[in-house]
Amino acid sequence: QQRNPNEPEFHQAVKEIVDSLVPVFSRHPKYQEAGILERLVEPERVISFRVPWVDDQGKVHVNRGFRVQFNSAIGPYKGGLRFHPSVNASIIKFLGFEQILKNSLTGLPIGGGKGGSDFDPKGKSDNEIMRFCQSFMTELYKYIGPDSDVPAGDIGVGAREIGFMFGQYKRIRGGNEAGVLTGKGLNYGGSLGRPEATGYGCVYFVEEMLKSKGTSFQGKTVVVSGSGNVSTFAIQKAQQLGAKVVACSDSGGYIYDPEGICLDTLRQIKEVERKRISEYVQHRPSAVYSEGWQGIWNLPCEIALPCATQNEINEAAAAALIANGVIAIGEGANMPSTLGAIDLFLSNNVLFGPAKAANAGGVAVSALEMSQNSMRLSWTFEEVDGKLHEIMKNIYNSSVKAAQEYDCPGNLVVGANIAGFLKVADAMLAQGVV
Ligand code: NDP
Repeated sequence: QQRNPNEPEFHQAVKEIVDSLVPVFSRHPKYQEAGILERLVEPERVISFRVPWVDDQGKVHVNRGFRVQFNSAIGPYKGGLRFHPSVNASIIKFLGFEQILKNSLTGLPIGGGKGGSDFDPKGKSDNEIMRFCQSFMTELYKYIGPDSDVPAGDIGVGAREIGFMFGQYKRIRGGNEAGVLTGKGLNYGGSLGRPEATGYGCVYFVEEMLKSKGTSFQGKTVVVSGSGNVSTFAIQKAQQLGAKVVACSDSGGYIYDPEGICLDTLRQIKEVERKRISEYVQHRPSAVYSEGWQGIWNLPCEIALPCATQNEINEAAAAALIANGVIAIGEGANMPSTLGAIDLFLSNNVLFGPAKAANAGGVAVSALEMSQNSMRLSWTFEEVDGKLHEIMKNIYNSSVKAAQEYDCPGNLVVGANIAGFLKVADAMLAQGVV
């Protein structure tokens, strides 16, 4: 904390991992002797830069851009870009740090990185978004490349923003290095199945947890927070598997629809009209809108999928979910549960799929997009989805196995942290003190 003051989110992410790794360090002193932990928590590089842009009225704005290149032991830095007013060094460092072990868990050769800006895309015109993205990339391009650092989307960065950034990168660099960004549009190097990957992957992971208890999504009541990319496809897959999703949210509030969320209506409002979720009740008489996103966790459900943002489930929310009979949590967002909430879930035997395992499907399919770009090939949706499903099962199995081997059976927080760590740590050992 002295070394990184005022970075509470980063401290939280490090604490969760360090607590899990205690048995690894006591069983294998070689990691301590090589200073692996000290090196792991120090980013290889932190880049911070000015992003000036002009709005439609001619007014100049200045935002701050970041890219944290955390760890390249097992492959090029890989991780999304977040555009949200709350973005600061602590948030980007926590996200970049999480990405190291998450990317390792996918079994694919990708290192950890993350970036973004405190720019708020809400209410901006397409032209303003384009000018911002172009200015952002005019600085970022110096530090990224298909074999060195490959950004993607995250909160506030979807296909529109990736398109504008890719156009500017190409303009500056010349040529067409398709593999420099993932999450691209299908007609210029994107992968089928990438938009769906994080949400679908999260549901595939929870499906494995449920299977271990002899049950499934069929007939279960599900609450999903958020209504962006991850939430939308988590809702879709849960519905395909026979669940009833009764609620979702945005940063203003949440909707409860006892007849089940109508995904077409939701997507029309959020993706096409880019409006607030409160509009949903205009289209569905069965639905109720409530102000404030936190209240969503008071709704009774058997499965909760937090897919909005960090620390959205605190101890009080976890206690409410448990009191209402929740049996499984799948973290679609990054670090959506506080450390206290995680303790509560685990001590009450709630099946708990931690973010770095449960939401790794997005980055896994991003890596598959990179492979397709290198091969100049496009795989079918079924091929990509099949690989995603396999990867999520592997992540589940390797997390279960590591938890067992290190005497914490059933604790997937510990299991995912250890399984992700060992590959990175061994690569760092092999590469010497760098
Ligand atoms: P989007 O921008 O598409 O959607 C984010 C959703 O969360 C929106 O509904 C947004 O509401 C809501 N939200 C954002 N901030 C807050 C807040 N402070 N309080 C309450 N609600 C909030 O982002 P994604 O779906 O891409 O990302 C969601 C989460 O998933 C993030 O934690 C991200 O890091 C994680 N993730 C995303 C991956 C991906 O592939 N996209 C991969 C792995 C993890 P509003 O519209 O009002 O802002």
